[in-house]
Order: sequence, then structure tokens, then C-alpha cells
Amino acid sequence: MKELPQEFKDIYFVQDGIPYFKTFLAGEWVSSQEFQDIKSPIDLTTFSKVVKLNSQVIDNALDIMYKRGKWDIRDTPGEKRIAIFQRTAELLERYKDYFIDILVLNNGKTRAAAEGEVRAAAERLKLAELDVRKIYGDYVPGDWSNESIEAEAIVKREPLGIVLAITPFNYPLFDVANKLVYSTIAGNAIIIKPASSTPIIAILFAKLLEMAGFPKRSISIITLPGNQMDKLVSDPRISVISFTGSTESGKEVIRSGGIKQYVMELGGGDPALVLSDADPEQTAPKITVGITSYSGQRCDSIKFIFAEEEVYDKLKDLLISELKKVKVGDPRDGSVTMGPLIDERTAEEVEYSVKDAINKGGKVLYGGNRNKNYIEPTLIEIEKDKLKDLYLYNKEVFASIAIFTKVKGIDEMIELSNSRRYGLDAAIFGEDINKIRKLTRMLEVGAIYINDYPKHGIGYFPFGGRKDSGVGREGIGYTIESVTAYKTIVYNYKGRGVWEYM
Ligand code: NAP
Repeated sequence: MKELPQEFKDIYFVQDGIPYFKTFLAGEWVSSQEFQDIKSPIDLTTFSKVVKLNSQVIDNALDIMYKRGKWDIRDTPGEKRIAIFQRTAELLERYKDYFIDILVLNNGKTRAAAEGEVRAAAERLKLAELDVRKIYGDYVPGDWSNESIEAEAIVKREPLGIVLAITPFNYPLFDVANKLVYSTIAGNAIIIKPASSTPIIAILFAKLLEMAGFPKRSISIITLPGNQMDKLVSDPRISVISFTGSTESGKEVIRSGGIKQYVMELGGGDPALVLSDADPEQTAPKITVGITSYSGQRCDSIKFIFAEEEVYDKLKDLLISELKKVKVGDPRDGSVTMGPLIDERTAEEVEYSVKDAINKGGKVLYGGNRNKNYIEPTLIEIEKDKLKDLYLYNKEVFASIAIFTKVKGIDEMIELSNSRRYGLDAAIFGEDINKIRKLTRMLEVGAIYINDYPKHGIGYFPFGGRKDSGVGREGIGYTIESVTAYKTIVYNYKGRGVWEYM
């Protein structure tokens, strides 16, 4: 790993030739006797270590944040918070090469994908101003009845205190920046819990925030395995949980968390619906990017292609030829377009799901070969009446693998899409406005992309799922609702209680 500049020296030390990272807890850089290995998916070797926290240290930090930190951020004027985000974005741009290197090494992203994530994070920080416009309330006159005629109320949106932001491995920088912006611009303190496989970026990002003047006691980065999070998740001092991750982990979080406010961005994988009048030459490359981008390790990855008969054969040939152009390998090689999967466990799940599909009547049209955690992009053809039995239909497999199925008309597309337990996004390719209109009305998803592959991007267009894909929306301005609560303040100008009129 590239040596970090002098400004970052207080956040790590070097031992046995590798960096050992501390973490940031309510204003302090904290170390410990115990560290956990951080591996690179490129060669599955340990390139760094990160401090292992115990529950007492976390509890102390939470105490400081609850008593002080949540007020420090709330008492920082909005314009100052925005200025801090701007400075953080500038620092991110200044140090971007270090962030890009870590995203390549720790996530196995191609350099282009890593650059894209850093750009998106900087842009999200800069656009915090747009969130502010959603932080407003109401005035309610008391004219409704004789009992309230002397009174009136304001209903304001208030920060709830502390947001626990739990982030997945796949966008370790953008997800942290996004959750930080909407939670803290609304006036909450934030505890960030990054994925155990990719926590370094969040630690580095905390350093930038410290340098930019973010209120120190209002942020902590918790390096704790997900299966030890119960105590924190259920702690009453946490009022909001913003979780991005798999449906299975999300359900655990809600079970432990109990009554709180939630933003749950969960998994699913998306269908691409190709109408008879779609242009296959334009559609195939877009679907291919939707399948293979970041090795299919995106919640908005295309996992199903349902194509009308008229366009099916032509699209099949073109998809195969597009998939052949994808070069799998070490993402540090500039000619490689698809890197490894995050670990071998997911690669094994891909192998299992390919065998399962073949056993149930599927045919591999392309790919499927595995070398450790490197897998070729995989396209499997199967008839519609066999589809619902597949492992891949019932569970999200977080890799570049998609199912290709011929359908007769859009009613079959709707039925096959809506019968899945997930409902994140869908893509529609084609021109017939009446078919598109019906699909946009009937698909049970959070977002629909017409003539493009699904891409959540920075959330300029809000996104979020239905059914097992989650609740709440992430998007500029939209998440404010989930991280704040209404508070009604009733003024009675006569100084007599409203009920005294009765
Ligand atoms: P994951 O295994 O579910 O982990 C996500 C985060 O949750 C990690 O920080 C994990 O910590 C933590 N966690 C796991 N169990 C927990 C528990 N019981 N209590 C509290 N925290 C817990 O998911 P992943 O493999 O990192 O990410 C891939 C998944 O995220 C996919 O399903 C993908 O679709 C979804 N995703 C959704 C969106 C969206 O916008 N809808 C965006 C990106 C990703 P550890 O790492 O320590 O286990």
C-alpha cells in the first residue's frame, strides 16, 4: 500500500511492514492491543490491519456523543456545516490518489471505477446545500374549532440525535459520505460502522473531516464485526439506523433495533425488460455494463433480462459478443474491465447457482468459469416456466451473473418481475409509450430507468427499494424525512390551556 502523507501520520503506525490503523471515536484517535486483518481481493493477502474495538470503548464514545456530540453538531449553524462539507470535498480532491489506491487494493475496483467513486463522494459533499431546502416545517392555524381558536402551532422538523450508519463493502467511500451528509446536515451526530472487509476508507475520511473542522465529538467510526453489533443497534441512545447491505443482515438489524426510524437500502438485483421495438444494438452494450459493472457487486446490477420474442435472438447474439469483450483480471492492469469478487465465498455461491440453474433446465450462454475469486461474467438462458425454481430467482447472488428469458408480452414481464421478493429497480428498453406506461404503473420497484441500465449514482434522482429491497429513500433532499422527526409546538395566546374551553 502506498505510504500516506505526513498529515495522516497520527491515524496509523507501521509494524512488520504493514500499516495498522487506529479509528476515530468522539474526538480521539483510538488504538488497542487487538487488530483485525484487512485483505486485498486482488490476491487475498493481508495488506493492512485495523483496530478491534471492545464494547466498553464503544459505550464510552456513545456516552460522549449522546451528552455532548449531538448538541455540538446541532449548535453548528447550517452554513458552517455546508462550509465544512465543501472543505472536506476539497481535501478529498487533494488526497484523491490515496483514496483511489485503497479502493483498488481493498475493493478490487478498476482504477476508473475507483476514480468514479471518489468523484461521486466529492460531488455529494458539495451538493449538501440542496438537502437544506427540505428541512422545513408547517404552520397550523387554530381556526378549526372553538377549543383551539385561541391557539396555533408550528410543526418543525428536528434532528433525532444520533444516526447509526451501517455501510456495505461495495461503496465504502460514497456510502459513508452520503450518509454523513444527509444525517449531519439535518443536525444529527453520526456513528459510522463500515463493512469489516473494507473499513480503511472510512477511517481516512474521518481524518479529512477532522482536518475540515467537523465537530469532533459528533462522529465516530466503529470497527466492529456485524455479528457483534446487537448491543449498539438496540441502544436507546441511537434514534435512527441508516443501513445499506443485504436483506438478511437488514432483517437482523430491524429485529435487534426495535422501534427506531430506519432507512434500509437492501439487496435484490434488477430485471431489464426488453420490448419488441427496442434497438438491440443500443440495448446490448447497456445491459452488459449493468451486469458486469464492479463485477456485479452492485445492488442495482442487472440480474434478469426478460425479452419479447421478436427481439430475443438478435439480443442474445449481441449480449454474448458484448460479454466476450469484458476482460477479467487484476484491476491494476489498465486493460482489465472487471476485477475480482470481494471474497471466495461469493465465488463459490456463483458456482453453486450455475449448477443449480443447469440442473433445473438452464443453459450457460457465456462464462461461468472460476479462478479463486475471479469469475467470468455469466449469462444463463432458461425458459420462463422454470425460472421461479432457481436459486438465482429467490436470492441475490452478488456477482456478475444474469438470467436470460424469452417472454410473450409485457404481462409476463410484470408477473416475473413482481413475483420476486425483491423490488429495487427495473430497466425498460424500447419505444412503445403505452407499454412503457403500463410497466411504469405496475412494476413493484423503487425506481425505473427507461432506455438505460439502473444506476443510483449520487442520488440526484432518489432511489430505494420496496418489499425485501428495503424502506426509505436515499437521495439528495429525500432522506431528510427519515433522519428527522416532527415536533409540534402549540401556542395558546390567552395563557389558558386548550382543553379549558371544553
Ligand atoms: P452485508 O454483509 O449485509 O453487510 C452490510 C453491513 O452490515 C456491514 O457493515 C456488516 O458488517 C453489517 N452487518 C451485518 N450483519 C449485521 C448485524 N446483524 N447488525 C448490524 N450490522 C450488521 O452486505 P455487504 O456484503 O457488505 O454488501 C452487499 C449487500 O448490500 C448486497 O445485498 C447489496 O444489494 C446491498 N446494497 C444495497 C444498496 C442499496 O442502495 N439498496 C447499495 C449497496 C449495497 P460486517 O462487514 O462486519 O459483517
